[in-house]
This record gives sequence, C-alpha cells and structure tokens, in this order.
Amino acid sequence: MSGCLFCRIVAGDIPAAVVLENDTVVAFLDIGPLADGHILVVPRKHFDLLVDVPPETCSAVASVVPVLGRALLDVTQADGFNLLVNNGRAAGQEVMHVHWHLIPRSSGDGLGYRWNAGSYPPGKADELKDRYLASLGSPKD
Ligand code: AMP
Repeated sequence: MSGCLFCRIVAGDIPAAVVLENDTVVAFLDIGPLADGHILVVPRKHFDLLVDVPPETCSAVASVVPVLGRALLDVTQADGFNLLVNNGRAAGQEVMHVHWHLIPRSSGDGLGYRWNAGSYPPGKADELKDRYLASLGSPKD
C-alpha cells in the first residue's frame, strides 16, 4: 500500500534492521524501542488491523513468534517478553499496518504494566458470554 511506512520497509524502500523474514512475514527492530531488542513482526501484505488478518497469515506470524522469542531471550538476556498488538488508534496503534510487538522484559525494568483487574456484578459475565456467543455463532467455531 503506497504511503504505508511498514509496506515501504517490507519493500526495502526504507532501511530497517531486519532480523527474520520469510515469504509471509518480516521482523525488524523497533526504531523507538521500549527496551533494547524490541522487535516488530509484520505481514508482508498490508492489513490495517489485526481483525483484518486472515488465518493463514496469523498462522505465519504465530509460527515465527517462538523462534523470535527464543532469540530475543538469548540476545538481550531479558527474563521474559510481552507479545502485544495495539489494534486500533484507541488502543495506541500509530502505524496502520498490523504489527506484533515483542518487548523484552526484566525484573525491575521500570516499564510498568497496568493490569487493573475489575470484577463482574452478578449476571454480567453470563450476559456478556451470551452476547459473545450470539456474535461468534458457536463456541466451537
Ligand atoms: P504502534 O503504536 O503499535 O502502532 O507501534 C508503532 C511502532 O512502530 C512504534 O513502536 C514505533 O517506534 C515503530 N516505528 C515507527 N517507525 C519505525 C521505523 N521506521 N522502523 C522501525 N520501527 C518504527
């Protein structure tokens, strides 16, 4: 897609520190890392959002994530990593070509992680489950 930053990186028109590529995906260092070794994985084909990505492309990304994760742990000596997709501008997506972040994490790295868990009042979880089932059609699909 012309004008898309990550399409231009995939095409080789803009330089990037590529660490892995195959027929379907390209992985490169994030230019603004949250921690040294922060990686982005993108499909070669342009999709704006995660919800636009077909299963075979998701599978290709999922297949490289453990490989990249092992390399990340080896190279950065981090204790772990976060795998993250910002889907949509409200979720913080700035580049509208879907990408998966692998962010190295270590104890006391100060990056923080807000996980302000709530709780459901009686009946609310069932109501939401029913709405999900109506949207999904069947829990077995
Ligand atoms: P997001 O907010 O999820 O859309 O993340 C976009 C990411 O792309 C940010 O972490 C940026 O640092 C990163 N980024 C922007 N431009 C480049 C670039 N030219 N090369 C590598 N990463 C980039």
